[in-house]
This record gives sequence, C-alpha cells and structure tokens, in this order.
Amino acid sequence: MRIDFHTHVIPHALPDFMEKYGQERWPVLKQTCACGANIMVGGKVFREVTDQVWSPEKRIQDMDREGVDIQVLSPIPVTFSYWAPTDAALEMAQIQNDFISETVKQRPDRFIGLGTVPMQDSAAAIKEMERCINDLHLYGIEIGTNVNGENLDAPEFQEFFRMAEEWNVPLFIHPWETLAKDRTPRHNFMYTVGMPSETALAAASLIWSGVIEKFPNLKICFAHGGGSFPYILPRLDQGWKVWPHLRLTTHPPSHYVKNFYFDSLNYDPLNIQYLIDRFGYERVMMGSDYPFLLREIPPGNVIDEMKSLSDEQRNAILGGNALKFLNVNEKRRTNGTESTDTGREAAKSGTST
Ligand SMILES: [Zn+2]
Repeated sequence: MRIDFHTHVIPHALPDFMEKYGQERWPVLKQTCACGANIMVGGKVFREVTDQVWSPEKRIQDMDREGVDIQVLSPIPVTFSYWAPTDAALEMAQIQNDFISETVKQRPDRFIGLGTVPMQDSAAAIKEMERCINDLHLYGIEIGTNVNGENLDAPEFQEFFRMAEEWNVPLFIHPWETLAKDRTPRHNFMYTVGMPSETALAAASLIWSGVIEKFPNLKICFAHGGGSFPYILPRLDQGWKVWPHLRLTTHPPSHYVKNFYFDSLNYDPLNIQYLIDRFGYERVMMGSDYPFLLREIPPGNVIDEMKSLSDEQRNAILGGNALKFLNVNEKRRTNGTESTDTGREAAKSGTST
C-alpha cells in the first residue's frame, strides 16, 4: 500500500476572512478559473493553486494515475493564522478541520485527515485537538515550526504537547513563517533554505529545551525530511558536550530522537539513505507535498529508485510506517468512524474528567 503522508488541502468555499475581520494577513482564496485560484495574502498572490487542492475527485484521478492508495490531508500552513485573535483563528481552523473530515468521510478508503489548531491559545488548541480526534475522526494534528516568532519550546506550548502525548496524538510539524525573512525572498530562498533551516530550529528547540525529555512518547513527524535537522544533529551534540552550563537535558540531543519521524521529501536517494542510516527505516514516511510546485512526481519516485532497500524496508517507507505513526487501525478506517484506537479512548476519557 502506497500512502502519501504529506499533501495539502483547502476548502473551495473558504469564507473571506479579510472582509469579515478586516486584517490584511488572512489568506483569501480568489478563484481565477473553473480549475484554479490564487491564495491572496495582503492583496498579493501568495500562491497559485489548482482545483487539485480542494477537489477529492481530481485528487483521486491523480492518485490513480500515480499509484497512490491513500493521501494524508493537511491544511496549508499559510492558513495556520497563529497571529490572529483566538476566536477568529479557531473559526478558520474549524472550517478547515470540518472540510477535511467531510472529505475523508466521502472516501475513507482514499483519505486520512490531519487537523489544525490555534496554537496562540493553548487551551483553545487542546480543545480543538480533542474535537479533531474524537468528533471529526482525524488522525493527528499539523502545527507550524513557530508561533508568532516563539520557538516551540516556549512554556506556553508545554500543555499542548503534554496533552498530545497523553492522548497519543501524532503531530506533523511543518515549516511556515520562516527565519531570516529579510534575507531569503531573493531567489525564493524561503522555500529552499528558509524552510529546512526553520524545521531544524523547531526540532532543535524541542530537544535542547527538554520538551522531548519531558514528553518522551510524543510522536512527531518533521516535514521535508526534517529539513537540515538530521545533518546538524551531531553539531548539536558537540554544543551540548562543550557547553555544560547550557545543558537542559540529561543526555546529548541525539538521545531524544526515538520518536522523531521524517517524510521522505528531500528529492535524493543519498539523503533518504542518510535518514534511514541515522534514524532507521521505520521513521521515514513517503510524502510528496502534493499538489504544489515543489512536489515529488510521482510520489515515492526516489524511494522506488533506491536499490539498497529490501522489500520490507520499501513497503514500510511507502505506507506501513505512516499507518503505524498515525495509529491507524486498518479495519476501523475502512469500516466507519467508530473510535477504537487507544489514543482516541484516552482523549475521550480526558474530556470527561
Ligand atoms: Zn507541505
């Protein structure tokens, strides 16, 4: 089974939040033709999108042509809206979460959904995470690499991570609002240099600060093969070794990666082999960034080319690892929406107490 862990969706009928709430930063979907639209931010085109981004039928046509059995659907990071007042950001999140849930309900054999939560307000984020998992039957939560410039180790996010661990909700950490924004617009470096660096900073922050030591069972997948994090990990270890006065954890950073997962989107067999050698083949999940320009076509192409992989390793990376990461009970997913997974039960009992 071939599962594309990293794909994005947006509702076609996304309301115009800029008109409703007045702030310029809201992403607004402006249809340009029957088969496409522009995502506008502050009156400028942020990204051109095709109807693949909202149409399940179009997606399934592509999946059939490219050999993908299941897509994991995530919101587009520009919609995270962590900068906005909580109520409005929650409304934006809920519209998307409801849309993703409805899309999955139409074709539970082809889609699995991840939700988004308003990280600027931990209590609201936890409440929406609970709704995503229990009511909407989504399988995890996608969050950004920073929240209004705060790294993910800031104290205000600890409760969210604590609950994600307790409820066994897997997290997909995706770069957005990338660092060095003043130095990266030229050459579109925010995508090729900013995003991988941003992801590395998020992973390093979670480890160095002790968040991962505190919540060792938190399951996290980092987008784009973990960005530059896998490569800088030995340097983090060296920093930990030579700066004892800065240590916040018992062990060096590389000790805390046992529940880190990475999508395979680094475009190169050598880089994927590096991920496998460093973290194990069980931690790599095929992901393509469908349907955007930088996506891998067809999804899993590089993995297919890798002669070094055994059948077991290849099958795990192409699909099995994603099912395990997302705690998917295969029978449950295809038969309906009743909750049976341990994490979901934990989340349910959590809300009743
Ligand atoms: Zn993406």
